[in-house]
Amino acid sequence: MITREQILQWLETLAGVLEDNQDYLSELDAAIGDGDHGINMNRGFQKVRTQLPNLGDRDIGGIFKTVSMTLISSVGGASGPLYGTLFLRSSMGVGGKSELTPEEMGGVLQAWVEGVVQRGKANLGDKTMLDALSPASDAYQQALAQGASGIEALQQAVAAAEAGMKNTIPLVAKKGRASYLGERSAQHQDPGATSSYLMLKTLQETVAGSP
Ligand code: ADP
Ligand code: MG
Repeated sequence: MITREQILQWLETLAGVLEDNQDYLSELDAAIGDGDHGINMNRGFQKVRTQLPNLGDRDIGGIFKTVSMTLISSVGGASGPLYGTLFLRSSMGVGGKSELTPEEMGGVLQAWVEGVVQRGKANLGDKTMLDALSPASDAYQQALAQGASGIEALQQAVAAAEAGMKNTIPLVAKKGRASYLGERSAQHQDPGATSSYLMLKTLQETVAGSP
């Protein structure tokens, strides 16, 4: 089970992780975009952080909805609407819930993928955040189907997200700003896939109790 309190703790920890990784994410974006991905993500999640004290009595759907609205209203660039839609889509299946079963967590991961696709229309291999999120969701489902616990499945998801993130390096970008570079976008790791990996890794660490 993943509790509402763990979700709030994850968001708090994630705000710190994105603060620590602001320069790294922006450097990745400087190579193939406009160098603002770390700034965008940090700005959005510091805003989320200020909302957390007001969310003490909200269910998980309400928490995700607030995160979504906060990101959409405070983050410019592609990543605001993309992460905003990701959280919005996942809020829909978990309304009224104060904890998530491993199966429900799988539904959340699936909804993240659907939200990103709905908003950005990327395909797998387009060198976007989808290349981390989609393999993560698949690995999670596969692990559960093979009898893994929720925590073990999350570990598999993080490993798949990390591999997916690294696999973006040779890819030529087909979506977003990086696609303007064409072939020159290859040999660089996608910033959005990297922030998505960090998001999943922080979730797994929070749930495992070792942030
Ligand atoms: P911007 O490109 O507007 O400056 P950011 O730098 O914050 O926005 O985010 C860039 C990241 O957004 C990319 O690394 C990529 O992962 C992601 N991205 C861009 N376009 C799409 C899309 N259509 N679908 C999914 N992800 C996308
Ligand atoms: Mg950018």
